[in-house]
Amino acid sequence: MNNNKMVERIYPPNQLTPLNEHDYIQLPINFIHDLAQADCLQSLLDKIAFWISQIFQAERTSITLYDRAHFLKLYSISGNQAIPLEFKVPIQQTFVGRVFSTATLRICDDVTLFEELDCHMLAQNGMGSCMDAPLMHKGKCLGTLNVADRAKFHYTKQQAILLQCLANWIGLNIKLHLQVQEMQKLTSTDELTGTFNRRMFTQQSNQHMLLFFNTQTPFSMGILDIDHFKTLNDFYGHQAGDYVLQQMCEHIQSHLNEHDFLARIGGEQFAIIFPTHAVKDAVNRFKQIRTAIEDMKLPYQEEIICFTVSIGVAEAQITDLNAETVFKRADKALYQAKLAGRNRVHFDVPTLSI
Ligand code: GH3
Ligand code: MG
Repeated sequence: MNNNKMVERIYPPNQLTPLNEHDYIQLPINFIHDLAQADCLQSLLDKIAFWISQIFQAERTSITLYDRAHFLKLYSISGNQAIPLEFKVPIQQTFVGRVFSTATLRICDDVTLFEELDCHMLAQNGMGSCMDAPLMHKGKCLGTLNVADRAKFHYTKQQAILLQCLANWIGLNIKLHLQVQEMQKLTSTDELTGTFNRRMFTQQSNQHMLLFFNTQTPFSMGILDIDHFKTLNDFYGHQAGDYVLQQMCEHIQSHLNEHDFLARIGGEQFAIIFPTHAVKDAVNRFKQIRTAIEDMKLPYQEEIICFTVSIGVAEAQITDLNAETVFKRADKALYQAKLAGRNRVHFDVPTLSI
């Protein structure tokens, strides 16, 4: 790729100091205001993409963040959609990937001369040149901030200094939001199974109850408990028990829809909420989950582990005082399922007051 050398300019951080020590940056006041107002990571990125696009009069602005090994994910775009939102850009053999892995701002003066995937996509959609800056925080690259224009040889070194300076400042903002997101995840999920925790269950069930009281939108709650889990632990070991919990959750998730809710509320006890489900629809789905778990036949070391669950189900009723009373009725139904011999679904039949 000899052509690349002629049209690619690389600016290591030490070359991006102001050309003149009296240089200053002038920014729209609403940009600063918007960044301070962003209430989540996605909103922050959308605001950044919009304002960077204004500041650079860019045909296209995009932001990528490190996704998982080998990929950057496109989180926000303003303008030309050459590379679509959510697109997973490989770090290997892409222009933006090189910016990320070397943490160095690069300008591509003519994208049509590059064979890399992202340059190809830009060229196909009418772009001529691009400039990508690493989003840095404490020496670590979080992703990239990218602008592109229809014209070739569009970007100057002065603009590179401005983009990198903004990227460094924006990097801190992004890092703060990533940390908040991580903390929210830690306080809402169960470490072992990755499902929601009891705190989230209480929050969700209260929200569904409120919706039920305000709009009569029904919901059903199931409490699922593994049968004879103590014996399973004693026989196969605690690690096997942990593995069973993880695999069972994955299996249950595969039977849930986008708006269904699963939480671990105790050791081997889980709550499932089916929003908008009256109990007669919910019970069938709980029966499917019970059967699917019974059929799991889980390979573990030299063994095949089989186990069953009991599920108690209750539907929110107008006579319920709050979500706690729905939970108590589902728990009572679970107790009955256990008493009746386990490996079954029982539902609570409410006693209607006249
Ligand atoms: P039942 O059919 O009546 O529900 O009986 P059970 O044995 O499942 O219920 P019991 O309450 O007697 O025992 C629950 C067991 O779950 C005991 C506890 O050691 C185990 N347990 C709780 N949390 C975990 C965990 O995170 N990992 C593992 N491996 N075991 C756990
Ligand atoms: Mg149990």
